[in-house]
Amino acid sequence: MTFSANATIDLRSDTVTLPDDRMRAAMAAAEVGDNVLDADPTVRALEERAAELLSAPAALWVPTGTMANLVALTVHLRRGDRFLATEGAHVLANELGSAAWLAGGMPHALPHDAGPGRPTPGTLAAAIGARGAAYYQLHTTLLCLENTHNAAGGAVTPPHEHARLVATAREAGLKVHLDGARLWNAAVALDLPPGALTVGADTVSACLSKGLGAPAGSVVAGTAEFVEEGRRVRQMLGGGMRQAGVLAAAGLAGLDRIDELDTDHVNARRLADGLAELGWTVVPPQTNIVLAEVADMELTLARLRTLGVLAGPMGGRVRFVTHRDTTTADIDETLLRISDN
Ligand SMILES: *Cc1c(COP(=O)(O)O)cnc(C)c1O
Repeated sequence: MTFSANATIDLRSDTVTLPDDRMRAAMAAAEVGDNVLDADPTVRALEERAAELLSAPAALWVPTGTMANLVALTVHLRRGDRFLATEGAHVLANELGSAAWLAGGMPHALPHDAGPGRPTPGTLAAAIGARGAAYYQLHTTLLCLENTHNAAGGAVTPPHEHARLVATAREAGLKVHLDGARLWNAAVALDLPPGALTVGADTVSACLSKGLGAPAGSVVAGTAEFVEEGRRVRQMLGGGMRQAGVLAAAGLAGLDRIDELDTDHVNARRLADGLAELGWTVVPPQTNIVLAEVADMELTLARLRTLGVLAGPMGGRVRFVTHRDTTTADIDETLLRISDN
């Protein structure tokens, strides 16, 4: 990749990644069919591959991660149910309340008292409360976990903590949905197969359009019955796409390079270390997200913009996301531009 000294360096999100030549070639060559009428062979191949990677019996391709979560929550929740999710979770903060107004669940946020991105089993148990809610009370029926946790700076929930939370939820009869938009990053950071992080969850969603670089697409995995019901929900939401194999081919190409996310993690640490050396207060990154504490977030973002560095806001902090379209040289250039000012 060539590098130009005054080019804009876009660290707002790993969603800005563009499909590269290899991915575009796979899209152009994709065998396709009508995925609503019967089946698109490439979508089917992607779904099988994703299910295997996530250690689930089946998976469903959907156009966005938001729809993946909404499909899962719609299948799991009924009106009058309450669901639990970690504070700042995508299903609480970034989906415009669709978990409530479409899936019908009353949200309840759990604090991150076990570490960034996760509650302790005790806090979870207390939030679930006693069994046997009266008919006039909310029924707590679902726990939503998020790994990595976006608002917590790409924090990883290790498998033993995941297992304890799942066990606590299950003992109380709750279903578990895992928002694994960046589950691939968690797996790479822990050097584990992605399926090691989904144990015990009823459903898991994962994005193809973030660090893996596909232009669109996510998967939501679970039992064959879940996928069958989920396909109906996808259709209701307007997500029944016809020759979607063109997009699924990009997803398959993305799944071939999960290991390459490690470069993003190395670059995130390089950026965090460099910023710390320049006197910034940064949270040490576990994956590809760097959060920095700044006195004035808007002012900092505007100043970065004038330097040709794009970052974003996240819970009052500045968020930098490394991704496959930013090289190590881009990270060094970012630090150089900041240090010169
Ligand atoms: C990005 C993201 C989603 C949603 O993905 P879209 O494809 O942008 O709709 C869901 N959950 C988390 C944690 C995310 O970071």
